[in-house]
Amino acid sequence: MNSDDNMEMVHPYQGRTLVITTQHAKESILRPILANHLGINLVCTTGVDTDLLGTFNGEVRRVGSPTETAIQKARLGIEATGIPIGLASEGSFGPHPQLPFFNADQEIMVLVDTERQIVIEESVVSTATNVGEINVASIEEAEEFLAKSLFGTHAVIVRPNCTSDPHVIQKGIVDRYALSQTIKQYAGISPDGLAHLETDMRAHLNPTRRKVIEAAAEKLAVRIRAQCPECGTPGWGVVDVIMGLPCEGCAEPTHLVHKEILGCVKCRFRKVTSRSDAKKSAPAHLCPHCNP
Ligand SMILES: [Zn+2]
Ligand SMILES: [Zn+2]
Repeated sequence: MNSDDNMEMVHPYQGRTLVITTQHAKESILRPILANHLGINLVCTTGVDTDLLGTFNGEVRRVGSPTETAIQKARLGIEATGIPIGLASEGSFGPHPQLPFFNADQEIMVLVDTERQIVIEESVVSTATNVGEINVASIEEAEEFLAKSLFGTHAVIVRPNCTSDPHVIQKGIVDRYALSQTIKQYAGISPDGLAHLETDMRAHLNPTRRKVIEAAAEKLAVRIRAQCPECGTPGWGVVDVIMGLPCEGCAEPTHLVHKEILGCVKCRFRKVTSRSDAKKSAPAHLCPHCNP
């Protein structure tokens, strides 16, 4: 606890029970984090089929943005339990938005509060991901892929490479013998003789992804804890940035963040502050004037 915590009033979520919608054991990641930061008691929904909102491997196509999907998921848990405040998260995997040669895992996490009619959102983008896919005729051809995918501690999904039936699929495979047999079987029924392997990104089978979800949960908990100085609503935090951090050499504006704009999710109160890392100038090698 720092001195700020001591001065704060009791947080409105302190001691409250919130619900998380998940089929993949995310509650065990979030429960201790929300308990530590906010004194929240987290329960998990049972019997809500989040796959109806889409699956990673395209059996059910996702509609809407990851944020919209996460909000929909949280609302399903709220409706199923009658608990008015719910959480959910949504992962996306693919090329990094700023570093196209790296794959990334973006985890979006939301809190939906139907009492205050607010949504609090945080996200983390991490290059720590094993996401990948390959087509092979046998397990021997997949060795490099399996090593890179951390197969064994992480699961894979297999299906025939060419198939019109999305239900011919084996998910959650962590056993080498089972994998070898499934590749053989599916390569045998695929017209091109290949089985399609991909990393299973579901949270309970992917420890690398669980770490990224944990980071997103930490970030969200910090944001939930921060209350609007004007109306007290939880979720106060950075909503926008102002670019143009001055160069250390020539003081001209660069393409780096100069100021952060903090905002409320309820009353639209805004406040401009310095960068949270207290950086006052940009290195000259990133300056378009000094280093064009
Ligand atoms: Zn400069
Ligand atoms: Zn406010």
